[in-house]
Amino acid sequence: MQADTELYSGKAKSVFTTDDPDKLILRFRDDTSAFDGEKVEKLARKGNVNNKVNAYVMGQLEKAGIPTHFEHLLADNEALVKRLTMIPVECVVRNITAGSICKRLGIEEGIELNPPTFEFFLKNDALHDPMVNEYHIRSFGWATDEEITEMKKLTFKVNDVLKQLFLDAGLLLVDYKLEFGRYHGNVVLGDEFTPDGCRLWDAATRKKLDKDRFRQGMGNVVEAYEEVAQRLGVELG
Ligand code: 5GP
Repeated sequence: MQADTELYSGKAKSVFTTDDPDKLILRFRDDTSAFDGEKVEKLARKGNVNNKVNAYVMGQLEKAGIPTHFEHLLADNEALVKRLTMIPVECVVRNITAGSICKRLGIEEGIELNPPTFEFFLKNDALHDPMVNEYHIRSFGWATDEEITEMKKLTFKVNDVLKQLFLDAGLLLVDYKLEFGRYHGNVVLGDEFTPDGCRLWDAATRKKLDKDRFRQGMGNVVEAYEEVAQRLGVELG
């Protein structure tokens, strides 16, 4: 399958059409961005490690019965996916406090949330992805009631699968962001699951092994992602 024309270029991935109108190619670039694109750097090998980790995680989710857009790997930095019509909201589940919830609610980092909490954000960099609720999503027509219910159900199911998967690799899944789209009338998981869009801490030491290393200027960002891949048993080629 050949990449055709570039449909969209995001902060870390580019999306290409293919000769199949139902399929797209995702190209994972080495670009890394934070703070809605204010901080941008190229980190060698990041595209490859994210592409491979994403392929592995999406495969595990499919096995657990969660529908995803992922088809198969095409190259070190490329994967073939189903072409979804994206729903413009981000679904975030938090198992442990970190990041924006700490600032917003004045809460310290590292508190376990039982039960885990769920938040919706509108995908809009110019507005810094504001938090929205289900009423906003319905009133502005971003998704239907049924789609909202399905996104929440699938996002929590992902939590059940991935919390254990990462724990088995000695990692705590602190929080993560998912994006969904429509495919032939069904809600399907799209975008990616990589250390760029989740928080992962070493279960014993709580060392950060995710994009917070980049956001907080801690260094060894790709090395941390590679450690995640290695602990999951993901071949990087
Ligand atoms: P927070 O709301 O604390 O900034 O983010 C919660 C979780 O969702 C974190 O794991 C974070 O990496 C992820 N997340 C939220 N928004 C975005 C986004 O726009 N891009 C990426 N890559 N991850 C996001």
